Amino acid sequence: MRAWYGFQTRTIPRRALMERLADGLPDDLIRHGKGCQSVTQDDDRATVTFTDGSTDIGDLLIGADGHHSAVRRCLWGDDAVQPAAFGTWQGLSPIDIDITHSNRSLMITGREGACGLMPAGDGSQAAMLARYSNRLSTPAE
Ligand SMILES: Cc1cc2nc3c(=O)[nH]c(=O)nc-3n(C[C@H](O)[C@H](O)[C@H](O)COP(=O)(O)OP(=O)(O)OC[C@H]3O[C@@H](n4cnc5c(N)ncnc54)[C@H](O)[C@@H]3O)c2cc1C
Repeated sequence: MRAWYGFQTRTIPRRALMERLADGLPDDLIRHGKGCQSVTQDDDRATVTFTDGSTDIGDLLIGADGHHSAVRRCLWGDDAVQPAAFGTWQGLSPIDIDITHSNRSLMITGREGACGLMPAGDGSQAAMLARYSNRLSTPAE
Protein backbone atom coordinates (compact mmCIF):
# COMPACT_ATOMS: atom_id res chain seq x y z
CA MET A 1 0.00 0.00 0.00
CA ARG A 2 2.78 2.40 0.88
CA ALA A 3 4.51 1.77 -2.46
CA TRP A 4 1.28 2.32 -4.43
CA TYR A 5 -0.38 5.12 -2.46
CA GLY A 6 2.37 6.60 -0.29
CA PHE A 7 0.80 5.68 3.05
CA GLN A 8 -0.08 2.64 5.11
CA THR A 9 -3.57 1.54 6.01
CA ARG A 10 -4.93 0.85 9.48
CA THR A 11 -7.95 -1.22 10.46
CA ILE A 12 -9.81 -0.04 13.56
CA PRO A 13 -13.19 -1.06 14.98
CA ARG A 14 -16.03 1.25 13.99
CA ARG A 15 -16.72 1.95 17.69
CA ALA A 16 -13.15 3.31 18.07
CA LEU A 17 -13.52 5.42 14.92
CA MET A 18 -16.78 6.93 16.21
CA GLU A 19 -15.16 7.74 19.55
CA ARG A 20 -12.19 9.42 17.87
CA LEU A 21 -14.41 11.45 15.53
CA ALA A 22 -16.47 12.59 18.54
CA ASP A 23 -13.41 13.52 20.60
CA GLY A 24 -13.13 17.27 20.94
CA LEU A 25 -16.76 18.00 20.08
CA PRO A 26 -18.88 19.64 22.77
CA ASP A 27 -20.51 16.95 24.96
CA ASP A 28 -24.06 17.99 24.16
CA LEU A 29 -23.59 18.28 20.38
CA ILE A 30 -24.26 14.60 19.60
CA ARG A 31 -27.36 12.92 20.99
CA HIS A 32 -27.09 9.14 20.87
CA GLY A 33 -29.99 6.74 20.77
CA LYS A 34 -32.28 9.02 18.74
CA GLY A 35 -33.78 7.12 15.81
CA CYS A 36 -35.17 9.10 12.89
CA GLN A 37 -38.65 7.86 12.06
CA SER A 38 -39.86 10.36 9.49
CA VAL A 39 -39.00 13.62 7.79
CA THR A 40 -41.13 16.38 6.34
CA GLN A 41 -40.07 19.63 4.72
CA ASP A 42 -41.48 22.84 3.37
CA ASP A 43 -39.81 25.76 1.62
CA ASP A 44 -38.09 26.98 4.80
CA ARG A 45 -37.65 24.14 7.28
CA ALA A 46 -37.10 20.41 7.67
CA THR A 47 -38.80 18.59 10.54
CA VAL A 48 -37.56 15.27 11.89
CA THR A 49 -39.75 13.02 14.02
CA PHE A 50 -37.83 10.55 16.17
CA THR A 51 -38.89 7.08 17.30
CA ASP A 52 -39.40 8.38 20.86
CA GLY A 53 -42.03 10.79 19.53
CA SER A 54 -39.92 13.94 19.89
CA THR A 55 -39.29 16.30 16.97
CA ASP A 56 -36.57 18.68 15.81
CA ILE A 57 -36.85 21.50 13.30
CA GLY A 58 -33.91 22.93 11.36
CA ASP A 59 -32.86 24.90 8.29
CA LEU A 60 -30.91 21.95 6.90
CA LEU A 61 -31.22 18.19 7.31
CA ILE A 62 -28.34 15.92 6.25
CA GLY A 63 -29.59 12.39 5.67
CA ALA A 64 -26.53 10.35 6.63
CA ASP A 65 -28.40 7.38 8.08
CA GLY A 66 -26.93 4.70 5.89
CA HIS A 67 -28.16 1.83 3.77
CA HIS A 68 -31.61 1.58 5.38
CA SER A 69 -31.99 5.37 5.50
CA ALA A 70 -35.27 6.58 6.97
CA VAL A 71 -34.61 10.00 5.40
CA ARG A 72 -34.24 8.52 1.90
CA ARG A 73 -37.38 6.40 2.39
CA CYS A 74 -39.40 9.47 3.34
CA LEU A 75 -38.14 11.48 0.38
CA TRP A 76 -38.08 8.82 -2.34
CA GLY A 77 -39.95 5.76 -1.08
CA ASP A 78 -39.00 2.13 -0.54
CA ASP A 79 -37.81 1.34 -4.07
CA ALA A 80 -34.95 3.85 -4.27
CA VAL A 81 -32.21 1.30 -3.48
CA GLN A 82 -30.97 -1.52 -5.67
CA PRO A 83 -28.95 -4.51 -4.38
CA ALA A 84 -25.23 -4.34 -5.11
CA ALA A 85 -23.51 -7.16 -7.01
CA PHE A 86 -21.21 -7.58 -4.03
CA GLY A 87 -21.86 -9.22 -0.69
CA THR A 88 -19.55 -9.24 2.30
CA TRP A 89 -19.56 -10.99 5.67
CA GLN A 90 -17.27 -9.58 8.34
CA GLY A 91 -16.35 -10.18 11.92
CA LEU A 92 -14.16 -8.74 14.65
CA SER A 93 -12.78 -10.94 17.40
CA PRO A 94 -9.76 -11.38 19.65
CA ILE A 95 -7.56 -14.14 18.30
CA ASP A 96 -3.99 -14.87 19.31
CA ILE A 97 -2.24 -15.59 16.00
CA ASP A 98 0.92 -14.04 14.56
CA ILE A 99 -0.79 -11.67 12.13
CA THR A 100 -2.92 -10.13 14.93
CA HIS A 101 0.23 -8.70 16.49
CA SER A 102 1.75 -7.49 13.21
CA ASN A 103 1.25 -4.54 10.86
CA ARG A 104 0.45 -6.88 7.99
CA SER A 105 -2.92 -7.68 6.46
CA LEU A 106 -3.62 -10.75 4.37
CA MET A 107 -5.94 -10.51 1.38
CA ILE A 108 -6.68 -13.28 -1.10
CA THR A 109 -8.69 -12.28 -4.16
CA GLY A 110 -10.05 -14.28 -7.06
CA ARG A 111 -12.63 -14.18 -9.82
CA GLU A 112 -15.50 -15.14 -7.48
CA GLY A 113 -14.61 -13.21 -4.35
CA ALA A 114 -12.06 -12.34 -1.71
CA CYS A 115 -11.17 -13.05 1.89
CA GLY A 116 -8.87 -11.28 4.25
CA LEU A 117 -7.49 -10.89 7.74
CA MET A 118 -6.65 -7.45 9.15
CA PRO A 119 -5.17 -6.71 12.58
CA ALA A 120 -7.55 -4.25 14.27
CA GLY A 121 -5.64 -3.32 17.44
CA ASP A 122 -5.95 -4.44 21.06
CA GLY A 123 -5.41 -8.10 20.06
CA SER A 124 -8.39 -8.11 17.71
CA GLN A 125 -8.53 -9.41 14.17
CA ALA A 126 -11.00 -8.31 11.48
CA ALA A 127 -11.94 -11.09 9.10
CA MET A 128 -13.81 -10.60 5.84
CA LEU A 129 -15.28 -12.80 3.17
CA ALA A 130 -16.66 -11.19 0.02
CA ARG A 131 -18.57 -12.66 -2.86
CA TYR A 132 -18.84 -10.92 -6.25
CA SER A 133 -22.16 -11.94 -7.70
CA ASN A 134 -25.59 -10.80 -8.78
CA ARG A 135 -26.95 -13.73 -6.78
CA LEU A 136 -25.90 -13.38 -3.15
CA SER A 137 -26.25 -16.25 -0.74
CA THR A 138 -24.80 -17.24 2.63
CA PRO A 139 -21.08 -18.12 2.83
CA ALA A 140 -21.99 -21.68 3.83
CA GLU A 141 -23.95 -22.15 0.64
C1 LIG B 1 -18.75 -4.85 7.54
C2 LIG B 1 -18.52 -3.71 6.58
C3 LIG B 1 -17.24 -3.46 6.09
C4 LIG B 1 -17.01 -2.43 5.20
N1 LIG B 1 -15.73 -2.22 4.76
C5 LIG B 1 -15.50 -1.19 3.95
C6 LIG B 1 -14.18 -0.91 3.50
O1 LIG B 1 -13.22 -1.61 3.85
N2 LIG B 1 -13.98 0.15 2.69
C7 LIG B 1 -15.02 0.94 2.30
O2 LIG B 1 -14.79 1.91 1.57
N3 LIG B 1 -16.28 0.70 2.69
C8 LIG B 1 -16.54 -0.33 3.49
N4 LIG B 1 -17.82 -0.59 3.90
C9 LIG B 1 -18.88 0.27 3.41
C10 LIG B 1 -18.93 1.53 4.25
O3 LIG B 1 -18.95 1.17 5.63
C11 LIG B 1 -20.20 2.26 3.90
O4 LIG B 1 -20.22 2.52 2.50
C12 LIG B 1 -20.27 3.57 4.65
O5 LIG B 1 -20.18 3.33 6.04
C13 LIG B 1 -21.54 4.27 4.35
O6 LIG B 1 -21.51 5.47 5.09
P1 LIG B 1 -22.82 6.20 5.47
O7 LIG B 1 -22.42 7.40 6.27
O8 LIG B 1 -23.66 6.40 4.26
O9 LIG B 1 -23.67 5.19 6.40
P2 LIG B 1 -23.24 4.43 7.74
O10 LIG B 1 -21.78 4.37 7.94
O11 LIG B 1 -24.03 3.15 7.71
O12 LIG B 1 -23.81 5.38 8.89
C14 LIG B 1 -25.20 5.51 9.11
C15 LIG B 1 -25.41 5.97 10.55
O13 LIG B 1 -26.78 6.33 10.71
C16 LIG B 1 -27.31 5.67 11.86
N5 LIG B 1 -28.74 5.41 11.58
C17 LIG B 1 -29.29 4.47 10.77
N6 LIG B 1 -30.61 4.58 10.74
C18 LIG B 1 -30.90 5.61 11.56
C19 LIG B 1 -32.13 6.23 11.93
N7 LIG B 1 -33.32 5.82 11.47
N8 LIG B 1 -32.08 7.27 12.77
C20 LIG B 1 -30.89 7.73 13.27
N9 LIG B 1 -29.69 7.20 12.92
C21 LIG B 1 -29.71 6.15 12.08
C22 LIG B 1 -26.51 4.38 12.01
O14 LIG B 1 -26.58 3.94 13.34
C23 LIG B 1 -25.13 4.87 11.60
O15 LIG B 1 -24.45 5.45 12.69
C24 LIG B 1 -18.07 -1.62 4.78
C25 LIG B 1 -19.36 -1.87 5.28
C26 LIG B 1 -19.59 -2.90 6.16
C27 LIG B 1 -21.00 -3.15 6.71
